Amino acid sequence: FHESSVAITQAPTEELRRVGLKHHVPPAKPIFIHPHTGAHISWLRLKQDVHGFADGFRNKVGLKPAPLQPDKPYTISSPVLLHMPNCLPYVPVMLGAAAAGLTVTMCNPFYTPTELLHVLKTAKPAVIITTPSGLPILKEATKQLENKYQASLYKEGRRVFIVDVTHDDYGLYNGVPKTITPEVGRDGWITADYKWLLGKPGFHIDEWSPEEVAKRACFILWSSGTSGRSKGVVLSHRATAAGVLSQRYSIPWMGPNDVQIAFVPFFHVLGLACVALLAPAIGTSIVVLPRFDLELFLRLIEAHRATFTNIAPPVAVALAKTRLLGEYDLSSLKSLSSGGAPLAADVIRTVHERLGVLIKMGYGASEAGGICNQIAGTWEELEPQLGTTGRPMPGTLVRIVDVDGSGRTLKYGEEGEIWIKSPTLMSGYLDDPQTTAETLTVDGWYRSGDIGKLDRSGNLQITDRMKDMIKSSGFQCSPVEIEGVLAGHPQVADVGVGAIYSPDDATEYPRAFVVPMDRTILTRSLEENKPSIELVTLAHELNKRVESKLIKYKWLRGGILFVDQVPKNPSGKILRVFICGDFSKIVGG
Ligand code: AMP
Repeated sequence: FHESSVAITQAPTEELRRVGLKHHVPPAKPIFIHPHTGAHISWLRLKQDVHGFADGFRNKVGLKPAPLQPDKPYTISSPVLLHMPNCLPYVPVMLGAAAAGLTVTMCNPFYTPTELLHVLKTAKPAVIITTPSGLPILKEATKQLENKYQASLYKEGRRVFIVDVTHDDYGLYNGVPKTITPEVGRDGWITADYKWLLGKPGFHIDEWSPEEVAKRACFILWSSGTSGRSKGVVLSHRATAAGVLSQRYSIPWMGPNDVQIAFVPFFHVLGLACVALLAPAIGTSIVVLPRFDLELFLRLIEAHRATFTNIAPPVAVALAKTRLLGEYDLSSLKSLSSGGAPLAADVIRTVHERLGVLIKMGYGASEAGGICNQIAGTWEELEPQLGTTGRPMPGTLVRIVDVDGSGRTLKYGEEGEIWIKSPTLMSGYLDDPQTTAETLTVDGWYRSGDIGKLDRSGNLQITDRMKDMIKSSGFQCSPVEIEGVLAGHPQVADVGVGAIYSPDDATEYPRAFVVPMDRTILTRSLEENKPSIELVTLAHELNKRVESKLIKYKWLRGGILFVDQVPKNPSGKILRVFICGDFSKIVGG
């Protein structure tokens, strides 16, 4: 493959191959640390609790792995939904469910009821772990479930558990849990503290055949893919394990003496593969943050002598600009890794000048089970690679394919669609064979919907995106979903959603192009050279509508433009790139 000059993969060194994930981790080593109280879960405790939760899911709730469906691409087993922000119990519960052979799905805890309803309908979770503030959202979503059996299961089936992240997040780790009795609310909902789920630590994890490891679904993540609404991305146990190993090779120096600050959400593939799964495997300590806060982040680096952190591009921009750097001792930091969206080379340079730290840009996707490419090396080696996402990870092949549909592989320097092959790839989209077939080729390539080119050293540069997806603050927004919400307003005749890029915030923001039902309000505004009161009112109503139905990063921060027609190609497809300007000029700085 190396000779075909289209895809290069880095082999792990002999040393790494030998070490892999085998590290001696002292049993008392703190793995997950609370940012404020310093309470922690030690490596031994984590191991015991993973087994304890596995026992609880199996023997207290009574859930088992489903019989293997060998003729299907994956087998889902009673999904457990984690509907909560990063917190100490996150990984023990998550790994406990996976160790019990169940499928775990995680979603953004700030989803609106409409968005959560979609997850409930699609994944049909058997158990839900939420927070006191997530519970009302869950109740609201459940009211709209058409499947009444599923709704009553959540309400009265003792299937909803609460992690009180503000009060008792870490009670479990301060001693043996006291007897926990489920609570019955006035509305009939029966919930219990998540500690109820903890069973006996001696749980014996099933031995699986290689076929089971490859076919049993470990995670369902959420991604809009190349178009349409959010879809469940099914990752097998095999893909998950391969992902952890591949991440491990990208930061070979990391081990039990390192500390990371983790605010990248564990429900996203970046936080999952690079942090939540890798850290316990190699004994690295993680200070767990529910969200990003610049000052707290800097304070925690100093306090914990943190060595590494995964960040998103807006955080890199904040580091390039902040006046707070001088106030903290950040000398322990060895490097930072940024992924999920483009990051301008200038920002990487500025952060290096200010902090003396390299930001290693990576390229990945939920469907690829993690990072596919990442910059590696010292600053001198890295300089010429700036603006690229580096070479493919070990075990990963990258190919640039002509977008004309011929499947022709392009040469170095030529732009085309990025195709990926790796043992980390998803098994398919949940219950969506058609989109799966459009996304995964029969010979096992993932068609990313991203446009890029490879240089002669195998560095991948992302130059454009052909899929209908907006990356806002590191999260995916489906323009089709936002269009659906806007189109439901009676005054909207037609709508198209694209994005604008804000270099200041290093993110795209959704922007709507709306054709009003009553065109006269548009012509009147043009004649008077100022927006008519009706237009202002409509804009206000549309914003309110989006804000009530969709999570914050999908709000129209790129504005609303009223137009007399939405640009479309002859077959009616909205020309999003056209309406947003030339994307290739803004991606990659
Ligand atoms: P997600 O599944 O949320 O990780 O989103 C994956 C998508 O994010 C990719 O298909 C790209 O469109 C985009 N993406 C990820 N990393 C980068 C990067 N370094 N530069 C540009 N786009 C990126």
